[in-house]
Amino acid sequence: MQIIDGKRVSEKLKEKIKQETVSWIHKGGKKPHLCAILVGNDGASHTYVAAKMKDCESIGFTSSIYRFDETITEEELLKTIREINANPDIDGLIVQLPLPKHISVDKVTQTISPEKDVDGFHPQNVGRLSIGLPTYISATPYGIMQLFDYYNIDTVGKHCVVLGRSNIVGTPVSILMSRNTTPGNATVTLCHSKTQNLENYTRNADIIIAAIGIPEFVKAHMIKPGAVVIDVGITRIKDPSKKSGYRLVGDVAYDEVAPLCSYITPVPGGVGPMTRIGLLMNTLKSARKEIYSGKI
Ligand code: NAP
Repeated sequence: MQIIDGKRVSEKLKEKIKQETVSWIHKGGKKPHLCAILVGNDGASHTYVAAKMKDCESIGFTSSIYRFDETITEEELLKTIREINANPDIDGLIVQLPLPKHISVDKVTQTISPEKDVDGFHPQNVGRLSIGLPTYISATPYGIMQLFDYYNIDTVGKHCVVLGRSNIVGTPVSILMSRNTTPGNATVTLCHSKTQNLENYTRNADIIIAAIGIPEFVKAHMIKPGAVVIDVGITRIKDPSKKSGYRLVGDVAYDEVAPLCSYITPVPGGVGPMTRIGLLMNTLKSARKEIYSGKI
């Protein structure tokens, strides 16, 4: 059994993006610029945005943050997004979620220019993903595909069972795994809360990607020996023995499942660290005009 070390892979990929950025700028390319919009005072959102901006600095991107009080109106926010869309200096725009209840996430997502939608949430980019056109792949599915690639895990013709069909993880990763690409070319089964006899699918899976948000849901008896298990789930569980008072638990009962696997991602340190890579890669792609080059 090999543990997939997402932290190590993410550091290597970050270094690779840094080198690509240096070479792009050296050839006269524009320094990539990622802009974030942060609304309100949610502590976790502030931490996430700060981490994304720190990543940008460390690899030679420009970064900027628009901060707004939670009383900002929807129209004011949409107006700011349109201004950023029109600003040629900014290559990528992300709006940190959650937003206050009076602001429609759908409207915000659809107002961001697809060309600057480095989170890959705009319906146009999601549509492009589903028909195999170049697009901004959203962070978590991108990170998972990079792990398969880095570890050279054979996915061709394998039976991949994805647990969870959310728009941000399960559905896009199921599309990516089924595409005629490497990694990809798997035969995919997408399971959800209405799936019956779930174990019949997981027990026949060569690859399981678990993204449901139920701690330790996937148990040893649900696994085919030798399977690859990618655990996307992250749930905070109270743990008085920890200084923080909690610990992070995945969707997989790691201790009993790991000995059966060929590869497995731990939580934390598996998929989590990989999710910051996609955003950086997409911002560089935007600066290099790789997705919307005018050809397609
Ligand atoms: P979500 O939007 O809540 O979707 C959960 C999915 O799981 C739904 O499709 C649901 O089915 C399905 N589900 C629920 N119970 C199930 C069951 N008993 N059997 C099979 N499927 C079941 O969750 P999400 O946003 O995709 O996130 C999933 C987990 O990944 C969470 O723990 C989240 O924190 C974590 N996450 C981690 C990262 C990372 O960086 N590692 C990134 C994103 C998310 P229905 O559609 O039928 O309701």
